[in-house]
Amino acid sequence: MHRVLMLRREAEESPALRSTAGKRVGPEIREARLIPGSFEYHRPTSLTQAVGLLSSLDVDARVIAGGHSLIPMMKLRLATPSHLIDLAALSELGGVREEGGAIVIGAMTTQHALIASELLAARAPILRETALLIADPQVRYVGTLGGNVANGDPGNDMPAVMMGLDAIYVLTGRAGERRIEARAYYQGAYATAAAPDEILTAIRIAPPPAGHGWAYEKLKRKVGDYATAAAAVVLTLDKGAVASCAIGLTNVADTPLLAQAAAQAVVGSTLDKATLARAAAAAEAIAAPVADGRGSAEYRRKMAGVMTARALVRAFARATG
Ligand SMILES: Cc1cc2nc3c(=O)[nH]c(=O)nc-3n(C[C@H](O)[C@H](O)[C@H](O)COP(=O)(O)OP(=O)(O)OC[C@H]3O[C@@H](n4cnc5c(N)ncnc54)[C@H](O)[C@@H]3O)c2cc1C
Repeated sequence: MHRVLMLRREAEESPALRSTAGKRVGPEIREARLIPGSFEYHRPTSLTQAVGLLSSLDVDARVIAGGHSLIPMMKLRLATPSHLIDLAALSELGGVREEGGAIVIGAMTTQHALIASELLAARAPILRETALLIADPQVRYVGTLGGNVANGDPGNDMPAVMMGLDAIYVLTGRAGERRIEARAYYQGAYATAAAPDEILTAIRIAPPPAGHGWAYEKLKRKVGDYATAAAAVVLTLDKGAVASCAIGLTNVADTPLLAQAAAQAVVGSTLDKATLARAAAAAEAIAAPVADGRGSAEYRRKMAGVMTARALVRAFARATG
C-alpha cells in the first residue's frame, strides 16, 4: 500500500495524534509531527496565473483548496510542499450550473454548496446524499468537491460517486484543457492520471434520467468518520426491472472501484434475494481492503457487499417511487 496512506491510517489510529484536538500532547509530538514544514504562499487571481505558478515553481508546489485534507497532512509532515498555491481567489472555479445538458460543478464548490444546490437536488440527488455523509458541517463549509476528488485519497466519498455517475473531470495545465473520465482517473492511493502541472477546474456530469434510482450507503464508526466501506448506486428501470446500473465502492481498495460485475448482475432483474446476493458477492470479489481501526480486511470486504446490497435496495425503491 502507498506509504502516505499507511502513515495517514497510522496517524488516525494513534491515540497521541488523535488527542491533539484541543488537548495536551507531549513536546516531542508537537515538535516532530504537528508543525508543518516551511513553505511559500501564493494567491493567484486567475486560472492562467495559477497554472503558470504550478508549472514554473519546483516539483514540490501544491495547490490548496479548502485545506481540510492537505493541512492535516502537512501538520503530520506527510506532505511537505515548498510552495502552496491557494485557489481561493479563482471565482471561475466556483458554482454549479447547467451547460448544454450537462451539469458543471466548479472544482472550488464546497460540500456545503453541493448540499444547498437546488439544481443538484433535482438532477443528481446522490451528490447531496453523499455530501451530507462527509465529515461534519464545519468541514463541509470549507472542503471542496475538487479537493475531495483530485488527489486520489481512497477514503474520500465523492470519487466512487463520480465513477457511478460516469463524471468527466476537466483539467487545465500548461498544455491547455483536457477531459478525462472519473473511471480512468484513479491509478493508486494518491496516484492519479493528472499531470503535476494540472489543476482540476470542473466536474461535468450527464444527469441521470428523471425517475432514476440512487443511493449512497456508508458504514462508519461515528459521525465524521471515513467509510469502513461504502457503495454508490445509480440505476434506471424499464417496466419494473433494472435497465441500467452503475456501482462505485469507497475505501475498500487503494482506489475507488467501479463494481461492473455487481452492476451487471442486477440488470434485467427486480432485485430478488438471489440477485442481490450475487451482486453483493461480486462487489466483495473485487474489494481488496486492508485491516485498520475500522475492522479486519475480511470484515471490510464483507461490508463492501452489504453496502452494495443496501444501496441497491434503496435505489430500486426510489426508482419505483
Ligand atoms: C475531520 C475531517 C473528517 C473528514 N471526513 C471525511 C469523510 O468522511 N469523507 C470524505 O470524503 N472526506 C472527509 N474529509 C476530507 C474533507 O472532505 C476534505 O476537505 C476534502 O476531501 C478535500 O477538500 P479540500 O478542499 O479541503 O482540499 P485540500 O485539502 O485543499 O486539498 C486536498 C488535495 O487535493 C489537491 N487539490 C485540491 N484542489 C485541487 C484542484 N482543484 N486541482 C488539483 N488538485 C487539487 C491539493 O493539492 C491536495 O493534494 C474529512 C476531513 C476532516 C478534516
